[in-house]
Amino acid sequence: MSEPSFETVAIHAGQEPDPATGAVVPPIHQVSTYKQDGVGGLRGGYEYSRSANPTRTALEQNLAALEGGARGLAFASGLAAEDCLLRTVLVPGDHVVIPDDAYGGSFRLFAQVAARWGVEFSVAHTSDPAAVRAALTDRTKAVWVETPSNPLLGITDIAASAAVAHEAGALLVVDNTFASPYLQQPLALGADVVVHSTTKYMGGHSDVVGGALVVADRELGERLAFHQNAMGAVAGPFDAWLVLRGIKTLAVRMDRHSANAARVAHMLDRHARVTHVYYPGLEEHPGHETAAKQMRDFGGMVSFRVEGGEEAAVEVCNRARLFILGESLGGVESLIEHPGRMTHASAAGSPLEVPDDLVRLSVGIESVDDLLADLTQALGG
Ligand SMILES: *Cc1c(COP(=O)(O)O)cnc(C)c1O
Repeated sequence: MSEPSFETVAIHAGQEPDPATGAVVPPIHQVSTYKQDGVGGLRGGYEYSRSANPTRTALEQNLAALEGGARGLAFASGLAAEDCLLRTVLVPGDHVVIPDDAYGGSFRLFAQVAARWGVEFSVAHTSDPAAVRAALTDRTKAVWVETPSNPLLGITDIAASAAVAHEAGALLVVDNTFASPYLQQPLALGADVVVHSTTKYMGGHSDVVGGALVVADRELGERLAFHQNAMGAVAGPFDAWLVLRGIKTLAVRMDRHSANAARVAHMLDRHARVTHVYYPGLEEHPGHETAAKQMRDFGGMVSFRVEGGEEAAVEVCNRARLFILGESLGGVESLIEHPGRMTHASAAGSPLEVPDDLVRLSVGIESVDDLLADLTQALGG
């Protein structure tokens, strides 16, 4: 048999029918500890659920298979996964190159938490490999990129970035939250670590907060697993189960998210009150060719700028009805938000500050005609 395709792996990896009952979906092992058959006689290696839990194991094996990695690890949130990664691979005095366009919470983790422990960072326009090279120091241990980026949908060439990072002996970390492994496979392009907020497309239903790391190198996977257990911000069994359930439909959801977002982006691109559309599927997007090369499709996130400045952008958000005004992204329902005042408020005054007339959409999988009609009315006809 040939290698199973992504859709098949998403539904089956890590999930044999339950040996005791034949249940086709892994049970939620809502348990903290496990009976030992004599001292140290662990059944299947399970000892205590911070260290390992069967529902979490199913998710972790599934994540590793989806990203083509040696090891997957599931955390209580995307930021918990990032924190575990930073504290595993860095010591005080080490340096990281981070993007000038990224999730505001990731920036806050570097600027207001990691920096206090002596981890240095430089902000670079990571879409330009030359800018990354210029930011490297002799203490650079990691290059961090987010592609597509949040909220400006910037595109970074993963293979080119891996080459620059590896020349310097640094790891390439890719936040793959916006694309999901269905649309983009960073490890196959040379990245060392993939980061996810599984809260977003992986969970896909706005009902769980979670995070993940997937690594290509088994030894790094071991070190991360040690820190995951030593620090303890693990995904709980029910949360792991919800993400696993979401992943089963990831491929079909991402196809619909991408198709709907493309229609929305083209409509906005022609709208008189919209001054700029950020969507990598548009030919005029500076990263369009790179995105077309490294992604299967362009994803469900679209940002745009509104004529009339901040108040006009806020007004559009307030007038939307079907698009729900809220933070987060990647669920089946469409969301709208004002990054400057909402998700990216923590980046105000920093090099990651976002334009104040920016609106961000997470385009859901509703009927696209309904979505277009709602945006048209929110923009004032
Ligand atoms: C939401 C998000 C995160 C943080 O994940 P949480 O699950 O909210 O902790 C990291 N990166 C990106 C791109 C995100 O959108």
